[in-house]
Amino acid sequence: MRTERNGLGGVFVVAEVRRSGIHSCTLELVSKARELADARGREVTAIVLRSPSEEPVEPLFRHGADRILLVEDERLGSLNAEVHSRIVAHLIGKGDAEIVLAPATTTGRTLLPAVAALIHTGLTADCTGLEIDAETGLLLQTRPAIGGNVIATIKTPDHLPQMATVRPKTFPVAPPQDRLGRVERPLLDESLFCTSVVCLGEESVEGEEVDIQGLDVIVSGGKGLKRPEGFRLLQELADLLEGAVGASRPTVEAKWISYPHQVGLSGKVVAPRIYLAAGISGAVQHLAGMQTAETIIAVNKDPEAPLFRVADVALCGDLYEILPRLIDAIRREKEERHD
Ligand SMILES: Cc1cc2nc3c(=O)[nH]c(=O)nc-3n(C[C@H](O)[C@H](O)[C@H](O)COP(=O)(O)OP(=O)(O)OC[C@H]3O[C@@H](n4cnc5c(N)ncnc54)[C@H](O)[C@@H]3O)c2cc1C
Repeated sequence: MRTERNGLGGVFVVAEVRRSGIHSCTLELVSKARELADARGREVTAIVLRSPSEEPVEPLFRHGADRILLVEDERLGSLNAEVHSRIVAHLIGKGDAEIVLAPATTTGRTLLPAVAALIHTGLTADCTGLEIDAETGLLLQTRPAIGGNVIATIKTPDHLPQMATVRPKTFPVAPPQDRLGRVERPLLDESLFCTSVVCLGEESVEGEEVDIQGLDVIVSGGKGLKRPEGFRLLQELADLLEGAVGASRPTVEAKWISYPHQVGLSGKVVAPRIYLAAGISGAVQHLAGMQTAETIIAVNKDPEAPLFRVADVALCGDLYEILPRLIDAIRREKEERHD
């Protein structure tokens, strides 16, 4: 309860650690946490749980953290929700956090509800915006609700810490600053590691490695492709532009392409430099995942398609006529540059 905790420990970010190191979505959250903490004159603490590693943690300082709580243990190599949530709950409880943030990735979505339950506070999942009332410290947590048709602002007035998971790419990574902080290695009681869960091994699901969020160009397809083979055409275009292929939900549901490609409310939020949408109508749930792209190019045969309303470039016509011409033109342009 607010009355029992004072939240003077500031803003905590639970870092997402992957095999490749600290994930960029953590830097996005540390950047935002800095802004929130500055408004309250408080600190930003990043919690990093991982197996022993040489991977540097200093980027967290450069993007906004004042302090890193680093716990390294062989047993933290793969996510064990029971152990990880217990340790995070212990660290934020001891640190008297006012706000706790984590990426709304599979890991964050698994971990944070368990942490919230352990420390008896609320959690707003999948936020697409965060602001703070500097005076009261109330976190204004924005997220789509009722199937994406309304945007709700949620407050947690009676409990501390205020906890939220935030969709990757919601906030930009702040430019790196020349700043350092302190790394603390808390000693943890062995009982925190007790678990009945045994990890027998890890296997990747087909397509799981696809990371469409990190690329500058995304070429997405929708039901207007009419058939799964349509994605080959999109892949050809994406390859030429060194981009990735995205998809609308119905194409994923139809198994034309795997889920990691899905853009939108129940898929990924992307913010590429160029987002080309072919045969996608532009439902609000799709827009929720791509409308912050720098340049939106829409290809649709219906001049009334809602996506045209947010597009910077509207190509009205049959995608099977337009895309091959676009591919030819880009290929010719590339060849000429090489000559
Ligand atoms: C809770 C909830 C969550 C959702 N989450 C998502 C989400 O994450 N992502 C998502 O995408 N959707 C999501 N949806 C579904 C969403 O409401 C729409 O149904 C979906 O986005 C429509 O997909 P689409 O544009 O591919 O298909 P359609 O709406 O069927 O549009 C197909 C478009 O293709 C055009 N077209 C047809 N043939 C051609 C052609 N030859 N050339 C050019 N254009 C052509 C048509 O004019 C049409 O505009 C969600 C819905 C709900 C209720």
